[in-house]
Amino acid sequence: MKTKSSILLIYTGGTIGMKIDPSDQTLKPFDFSQILEEVPELGKFAYRIDSLTCDSAIDSADVEPGLWQRLAGLIEENYDRYDGFVILHGTDTMAYSASALSFMLEGLTKPVIFTGSQLPVGVARTDGKENLVSAVEIAAARDGEGHAIVPEVCICFGNLLMRGNRAKKISSEDFRAFRSGNFPPLAEAGISIRYRFQDIIRPADWERKPVFHKKLDTRVSILKIHPGITPQVVRNIVCGPETRAVILETYGSGNAPSRQWFIDLIKEGISMGKIILNITQCIAGSVDMDLYATGKKLSEAGVLSGYDCTTEGALAKLFFLMGMSESNAFVAREIVRNLRGEITK
Ligand code: ASP
Repeated sequence: MKTKSSILLIYTGGTIGMKIDPSDQTLKPFDFSQILEEVPELGKFAYRIDSLTCDSAIDSADVEPGLWQRLAGLIEENYDRYDGFVILHGTDTMAYSASALSFMLEGLTKPVIFTGSQLPVGVARTDGKENLVSAVEIAAARDGEGHAIVPEVCICFGNLLMRGNRAKKISSEDFRAFRSGNFPPLAEAGISIRYRFQDIIRPADWERKPVFHKKLDTRVSILKIHPGITPQVVRNIVCGPETRAVILETYGSGNAPSRQWFIDLIKEGISMGKIILNITQCIAGSVDMDLYATGKKLSEAGVLSGYDCTTEGALAKLFFLMGMSESNAFVAREIVRNLRGEITK
């Protein structure tokens, strides 16, 4: 068994590595090499920690699917050289990126842990040091047989380790900025790191290399239902030629207006061959279109259940599945399956 774990830190940007620009007083990313100087605590681990900056550091509001392809490529290139990967990322779109990587990296045998912070690492009360130190410790953790304890794509934030495709940013201020509303955290960092071993996905074969899927099809739109929504808006999104799939963000257990024009437009989109996926606007709980008459009309029209998936998870899953195949029948069949622990049925 190897004794010294090796970790690759990949810096993409975000508040953790930002500094105030005196010219306009806004936070901007700075050179990553300074982060390691700012977190000397990392030197106390008996791990080899290497780092690299992914192209130029960005505010995660600027993240595009190209970054996910780049991250998947970097992890693939370095997979055999490291025991775990820590990705420093802005919090705004961290749940999207973690969801995407969870689908793109199939059959993981090593941890890929996203983290970041609400306050820059150079600020006295920063949460960045604790988040980073916990993320590195989790990425390096191995069991008695030398296998990774958490071979999954996760978000480590505010002392919680969450499955990446289950987490959501829920606060723009609190240090506990993420929540996994439909699945328990995989670990909690207190005096020690307490893992929920029974909930962690482990590979069927530790020797088999993961599959790195990099093809994505991004022709997905999100339609958030709200009182006062108009036929024009619904038509533009559901029947628009540029979309192959639509995520319908519905109320509660998957309910939407029962007015005829709305149901007719949904049916029109489906008859055009679009995939329409029902995801609840609630932070916790599942879509169940059989519960209310308003939900039933959607399932009868051919809307698919997203179960308890987050919007971020559903978007990533659609990009991934649509990237795998031009067949919407394939996507419709796979989208309702639990692929990476993203839904509970
Ligand atoms: N705007 C920042 C970002 O997502 C916020 C953060 O990192 O917390 O990059």
